[in-house]
Amino acid sequence: MSEERIYLDYCASTPCDSLVIDRMIRLLKVEYANPSSSHKSGRRAHEIIEQHRRMLAIAINALPEEIVFTSGATESNNLAIQGVATAAEQSGNPRKRIVTIGTEHPSVLEPCKKLTEKGFKLSVAPIDSSGTVILSQLSQVFGDDTLLFCIQAANNEIGTIQPLTSAAEIAHKHGALVHSDASQAVGKTSFDVETLNIDLASISSHKCYGPKGVGALWLRGGPAKFPISPMFFGGGHEMGIRPGTSNTIGIVGFCIAIQNAVNRMLSESARISNLRDTFESQLKDSITSVRFNGALNSRLPGVSSITIEDIEADALISRLPNFDLSAASACHSGAPEPSHVLRAIGLSEDTAYSTLRVSFGRETTNQQVESAVQHIADSVRELRRFLAYNKTNSDC
Ligand code: PMP
Repeated sequence: MSEERIYLDYCASTPCDSLVIDRMIRLLKVEYANPSSSHKSGRRAHEIIEQHRRMLAIAINALPEEIVFTSGATESNNLAIQGVATAAEQSGNPRKRIVTIGTEHPSVLEPCKKLTEKGFKLSVAPIDSSGTVILSQLSQVFGDDTLLFCIQAANNEIGTIQPLTSAAEIAHKHGALVHSDASQAVGKTSFDVETLNIDLASISSHKCYGPKGVGALWLRGGPAKFPISPMFFGGGHEMGIRPGTSNTIGIVGFCIAIQNAVNRMLSESARISNLRDTFESQLKDSITSVRFNGALNSRLPGVSSITIEDIEADALISRLPNFDLSAASACHSGAPEPSHVLRAIGLSEDTAYSTLRVSFGRETTNQQVESAVQHIADSVRELRRFLAYNKTNSDC
């Protein structure tokens, strides 16, 4: 096996864009002033942040004053869900139901569950076996008591892209606000908040070739007009909704990365989905009893969720030390439970354990894809021979 390390885990995180690294390093040396300080250096740091806020706003067709910088999508999701619920409680809004789907990231599911301890009710909207929300049945889960509908733009394990515009239209008919976790979608598939007609969206920098520890929450009309309460207190930063000294350099890197990804999206997603399709068809030709999960015609370009019958994903991955792969999402790796996403789309526990995620990105090459197919197929054959040998011996 070649000694080259092959990174195939772009859904977990992406390498930082070299343009982003250059710009961040240059600014790190000089833009250290606190952007809230009123002196000249502070004002300059503040202006840099505002310039990049405008850049991000253009990338998702929003207004700059609608963007709140956070530490990443986990914080944005928590702020959106808990912030909207708290504001509703404080204003005496009688709506007490949150609707979501079973394939959401834990940073959406957990705050939703937490709210049930405060008297909120949680409903799970139906999805089909591809993980797509069933629009024809969606109205049934909404009542006049629904405050918020949380529906991800695209899934991090199976890549399924949700029909957001139609889902949002149904939720709005019932008077609910719509939040979308767009961490996996922005920069990889078109994401225009006006077309989608949603109300809040969470974005993460490191899923899109930016640095870790930075992200944003977009809110229609901005925090001044939106019914949301802050979750942290102790400063008036980010229009009073997210206190804490602003991460100037992180914000710069984040916004450049998103702008760059959006500009390159059409050509990049075509190239990456070609790589993914080649990988899947070659793997199918090389081994038996393999299938792919998710909405195969409406998926993120770089995601392949593969179920290989009789093969434990962990055992397979341990035979491929030069490949960076995940059994499920990075958040689950090492966890004893099978992936909740795979279970939500109807896979049995055993089938979920036989599923691995391969995710391709900007630096993935044809040679790496060929190498991945060859090594995965070889290892599956070896494991199957080993299993067959063990079975024969235990049978006699
Ligand atoms: N939502 C989804 C769909 C994700 O894939 C992730 C990252 N695994 C997050 C939220 C959390 O993002 P962050 O790392 O920026 O907190």
